[in-house]
Amino acid sequence: MKVLVIGGGGREHAIVWALLKSPQVTEVLCAPGNGGISALARCIPCDPGNLQELVNIVAIEQPALTVIGPELPLSIGIVDELTKRGHRVFGPTQGAAQLETSKAFAKEFMQRHAIPTAEYGICTTLAQVREELPSFAVPIVVKASGLAAGKGVVICETHLQAEAAAAEMFSGSLLGTTEEAVVLEEFLTGEELSFFALCDGTHAIEIASAQDHKRIGEGDTGPNTGGMGAYSTDGIATPAMRSWLLHNVAQKVVDGMRSEGEPFKGILFCGIMMSPRGPMVLEFNTRFGDPETEAILLRLETDILDLFNASIDATANQLTINMRPGASVCIVAASGGYPGKYASGKPISGLPDNLIRDARDKAKEEDIVIFHSGTAIKDGKIVTAGGRVLAISAAAPDLQTALDKAYSELAKISFEGMQFRRDIGHRALR
Ligand code: AMP
Repeated sequence: MKVLVIGGGGREHAIVWALLKSPQVTEVLCAPGNGGISALARCIPCDPGNLQELVNIVAIEQPALTVIGPELPLSIGIVDELTKRGHRVFGPTQGAAQLETSKAFAKEFMQRHAIPTAEYGICTTLAQVREELPSFAVPIVVKASGLAAGKGVVICETHLQAEAAAAEMFSGSLLGTTEEAVVLEEFLTGEELSFFALCDGTHAIEIASAQDHKRIGEGDTGPNTGGMGAYSTDGIATPAMRSWLLHNVAQKVVDGMRSEGEPFKGILFCGIMMSPRGPMVLEFNTRFGDPETEAILLRLETDILDLFNASIDATANQLTINMRPGASVCIVAASGGYPGKYASGKPISGLPDNLIRDARDKAKEEDIVIFHSGTAIKDGKIVTAGGRVLAISAAAPDLQTALDKAYSELAKISFEGMQFRRDIGHRALR
């Protein structure tokens, strides 16, 4: 079976790697892929934001299944387009992906279906922001409603700061694109948890939970990034909490979307704050998170193709997802300057030189994998090509061993300006 994966980051590298473990898969393609993925899959250059280009690739390659990694193609309706043309595709429709692509939609949806979330106000003008602000205590959270690659959330200490942040979102000076709506939100405290469910339009089943590390600096300091690392362990949430999240968040989302005529199929990522008032949804993603996926897929024992098929065929209720017991981690090595300006094209040394290898046999036994997030091949050598460059991942019976394995692998690697956090998993270890 030939499978096409759309995307080109660490998440897609992990999906390609997991697909190659499936005895049902004969060939994996990736569009556009990256330097590391090209060792495992035939990469097809493309712009993942160009619907026509993606449709053409599928028409030419005729994969038996197309898997959508990132949010951008989902937001422009790739699943609707491919389904309309008779192709088999994993991921939510454009309408269902609104849970991620519009925070205003997600907040109102949660309110309609009694899904616990922070108090909020939706504003479409600055005048409205000024009017609503006095009803919120400080700190206050200001969120761009649309996709913002992790940069659309500003935590403000004063109302004045909140007004300025909203003004920058409306004008486009913060994100580069003008925002039609801004969400004002109550500031919540507590531990964060990422809960992943597989959804088939009718059923939601649990995949796993993880915690990611969004800030650039150790001790969770400095600006937000796409994610500097993640870990997943058996004990990250109690069985009672996991069951609660499945029934009171994920299944309610699936039931709600179905009742509104937009059945949700695909991965539902629930960003949860364990607040003193109970678990509250911070956000939904409608696809695998990055870098949590790199950690979670190392633990997945079930054939990933069975997950994709169950979602498409609405048979998730018949699937049991097995995760390897213990822990897994992912540590991101990023370019110097990230999440601000950074240089690309820096040669990476210390990577295993057997990059081109029999991925299928290797993948079966691997418990340390270097997933590539932003790399390219230049003159036959792997060079940096993004803010986040590598996602060094390891699995082990316990968290400390998984961390030791990943950090010792990372110690062999270097490139000019390389930065990483030395405290991934610190909250769980504490
Ligand atoms: P989001 O993209 O909505 O998940 O927000 C990104 C990050 O901002 C979250 O992982 C939290 O760390 C923080 N955040 C978002 N909303 C809130 C909130 N209401 N209270 C406190 N922190 C928040």
